[in-house]
Parts: sequence; C-alpha cells; structure tokens
Amino acid sequence: MIHENLVKVEERVAKACERAGRKREEVTLIAVSKTKPVDDVKEAMKDGIIDFGENKVQEIMDKYEAIPEKLNWHMIGHLQRNKVKYIVDKVCLIHSVDSLRLAIQIDEEAKKKNLVCPILIEVNAAGEDTKFGVSVQETEPLIQEIAKLSNVKIKGLMTIAPFVEDAEENRVHFQALKKLSVDIKRKNIDNVDMSILSMGMTGDYEVAIEEGATMIRVGTGIFGNRNYSI
Ligand SMILES: *Cc1c(COP(=O)(O)O)cnc(C)c1O
Repeated sequence: MIHENLVKVEERVAKACERAGRKREEVTLIAVSKTKPVDDVKEAMKDGIIDFGENKVQEIMDKYEAIPEKLNWHMIGHLQRNKVKYIVDKVCLIHSVDSLRLAIQIDEEAKKKNLVCPILIEVNAAGEDTKFGVSVQETEPLIQEIAKLSNVKIKGLMTIAPFVEDAEENRVHFQALKKLSVDIKRKNIDNVDMSILSMGMTGDYEVAIEEGATMIRVGTGIFGNRNYSI
C-alpha cells in the first residue's frame, strides 16, 4: 500500500507545483513515519524516499540504529531539553524550536559534538491555544537572539496548521508564514537564512505548496492511519 500511496502523493505534489508555477525540486517530501515500524520505512525507501519525520527522540534513536543506510531524519515534534543530546548528531534538521532555552541547549550539545545544527523556528501561525510554537509577533525577536549562537543555524520556519475539514481554511495561515519568512529574510540577520518553509500535512499539503512550502510533512497519506493504542 505504501508504494501506491506514494505514487498518489507524488502525483498530487507534482500537480500542485505545476499550478503554483514551481519546480518539483523546490519541494521536499518528508515521509512522517512516527509510530510506524522500521519495515514501513524500508518500504518507502524502495520508492527513493530518504527524508523521514519523527516526533519522539526514542523512536528516532531506534530507527537510526535499525537502518544502516544514510537517511535524513527530521525531528518534527516537541523536543525536551534533556533529550537534545541523544539526537543532535543524528538528525538533519530540528523543525520544532520555539524557545531560546531550547536553542541554547541545542547549541551546547552541538558544540560538544563539533557540529552546527540546522533548525527551524516553530510558529503557531493560527494562534491555537493547544499548539507549541511562538506567535508571529514573537518570532523575529526570538530569531535575533538565537542567531547569536554559533552552533545552531536557523534555516527557516515551520508551522502546524489546525486540523480542518477543508484545506482551504488553512491557506491564510500558510500565507501568513510565508509573509513572515519574507519579512525576516529582508532583515538580513547574520547567521539566519529563510530558505526553508516547512508546512503542509496529509490534509493540506497541496495548499501549502501553492503558498510556498519547501518541505511538506506527510504521514497518514503515505503510511495509513496511526494506531496509538499499541
Ligand atoms: C504527525 C505529524 C505530521 C504528519 O501528519 P499527517 O496528518 O499524518 O500527515 C506532520 N507534522 C507534524 C509536526 C506531525 O506531528
């Protein structure tokens, strides 16, 4: 089923790129494999997928160990500071940085391992109470502070849009994130680039692509429904 799903997703991604007048290469499809077994990851790899998203530190570590091939692991979930040390050298990008304290921890752990860790700032674009992420207003001040750290590199913004029936309802939030990224890019802050816009999930990735997403995070649409009870 994973192969068939990937064919469908790929077709829809290509069409959305076409509608938006964008090149397919501008959009990275991240297969969100959280809660799914290693065999599912291997199945997706057969289709050429190398970018995988996880939201739990333990799960990244387990899958990282179990799969010898070099993959791009994306940390997309809320990250506790005491767990940063386990993944800072295993992930290609942390999408979910929403505080200076967390960024400082990442910076310290990255320093110990002699690397620079690429990060995104998670923005609560829709202003939902239930979500992590900083508000649109808080984003630039936070970036100004994080930019001073030597071993993290801000590469852009990420948002998790609300769960909606009609993806069109999220278009305004994707537009808001794009606008914020353009505004921040214009400030030319040292050590900051705004090349990545991580937005769009199974229910709304086509709208996100139309509004400028450079990374989409698709779980259910590739691997099927998640079972949290096991
Ligand atoms: C689970 C998750 C996704 C994927 O969600 P689907 O609706 O299954 O595509 C994307 N982004 C984040 C941050 C997630 O936690």
